[in-house]
This record gives sequence, structure tokens and C-alpha cells, in this order.
Amino acid sequence: GTGPPVLELRGLRVSYGAIEALKGIDLVVEEGEVVTLLGANGAGKTTTLRAVSGLLRPREGEIRFRGARVDGVPPHEVVGLGIGHAPEGRRVFPGMTVRENLDMGAYRFRRTPREDLDRVLALFPVLAERRGQQAGTLSGGEQQMLAIGRALMGRPGLLLLDEPSMGLAPLIVTQIFDIVREINSQGTTVLLVEQNAAQALRLADRGYVLETGAIVMSAPAAELLHDPRVRAAYLGGT
Ligand code: ATP
Repeated sequence: GTGPPVLELRGLRVSYGAIEALKGIDLVVEEGEVVTLLGANGAGKTTTLRAVSGLLRPREGEIRFRGARVDGVPPHEVVGLGIGHAPEGRRVFPGMTVRENLDMGAYRFRRTPREDLDRVLALFPVLAERRGQQAGTLSGGEQQMLAIGRALMGRPGLLLLDEPSMGLAPLIVTQIFDIVREINSQGTTVLLVEQNAAQALRLADRGYVLETGAIVMSAPAAELLHDPRVRAAYLGGT
């Protein structure tokens, strides 16, 4: 496409008081891509996603969604523009049912659109089986699926995924990565934060490596997968 990127970060700086978590990062996600943001604990990955969602206000720099500035836009309006966020630690509403959690994701529509509900339940059949069950009683993998499903209910053009593999068994992680691939093939652009670099790079088109608040590498995913520095630092040196 010839349009503006789906997401464009320019010189993004974010601080927590005196701690500078992002030291001026540049990052672009084009329409239709899966882009992964890799980095160790504390590198600033979650901070990046929270800034895009409007949960943190940048100290400096620009965030553009399809060309329009969104830095300074409050989180509920960011959702309304078409940015969905499945947060780290799969923060579902534990006392609400699966269906109610999905309804929350669709709150920008007056009523939950049937087609969105059908699409999400088709992607995650286990959620259809458990639609009347309290979210807090789901397994970790099911809660992660619900967190992603809830984000999809807002019909996002850009889906932000924060460590969907965290704490899950390998088989479940593979399932979730397969579903992310399916979501992308249905037309949703994805920015994926991961510590599981190997699987993230196999899924992604391109990747960025973040170290202590700065982008230190950016390349096609296949290149990063074979890069000796990436292999040593993020792929267990294999
Ligand atoms: P993780 O995988 O642990 O989530 P991350 O790459 O997502 O790591 P961030 O959570 O974005 O990293 O944290 C970036 C930096 O900002 C770290 O130094 C962290 O200690 C600091 N930080 C994060 N949240 C806060 C906060 N609420 N208050 C103060 N400092 C924070």
C-alpha cells in the first residue's frame, strides 16, 4: 500500500519520574505486518505498548496511527480509533463471565456486534464452550485467549500483544502463535512484544530489539533469527 504506516513512533521518550524507560525510539509498523519487539526484562517493551495505548503519556516524540497523532489521546479514544491491546499478564475481569469480558471489549459499539462475537468464538472455540463461565476460573492459556479475544472485539486495525506466551506450556504457546498468525491473515496488523524470541521471529515479518530503552537492531525477522548477537542474547545461544 501507499498509505501512511499503521503505526509510527518518532523519538519516543517515556519516563517514570526520574527513570527514563524509553530514550527516544523510532519504530514503524506497516499495514498487514506482524512486527515483533524483542528485549530482556525491563528493556521497555511494555512501556512502548502502554504509550501507544494512551496509558502512558510520552515526555517527547510522536505516536502516529495511520498518519494521525495519537500521543496525548486518552485510552478509551485510542481503542475507538482501532488500536486493541491484550495486556501483559492477561488482565481479564475475573468475576465476569467469558461472554461479559468479550462484551467489554466491544463497548465502543452500542451493542456487541454478532459478527465480531462469532469471529472471536470461531478463532477460540474453547471460549465458546466456556462462554458462561467466570473468567477467573479459566486456565492460564484460556485467559490469554480471552484477553486476545476481548481486544479483537473492538475490531482493531492494530493489535498490540504483550507477551502472550508468558507462563504458558509449550503446546499452548504454539496454539496461541498459530491463532495470532490466523488473526493477521484475516487482515489485522500486529505489534507483538515477546521474550520468546524464537517463536516470535518465526511468526513476524520484521523485528526490533530494545535494550535499556533504546532500539539497538531492526531487520527482517529471518535476518534477526540468524544474527549471532540475537542468537547469543535472546535465543539461548543455539
Ligand atoms: P518486562 O518483560 O519485565 O515487562 P519490559 O521490557 O516490558 O520488561 P518495562 O516494563 O517497559 O520493560 O520497563 C522498562 C523500565 O521502566 C524498567 O527499568 C522498569 O523497571 C521501569 N518501570 C516500568 N514500570 C514502572 C513504574 N510503574 N514505575 C517505575 N518504573 C517503572
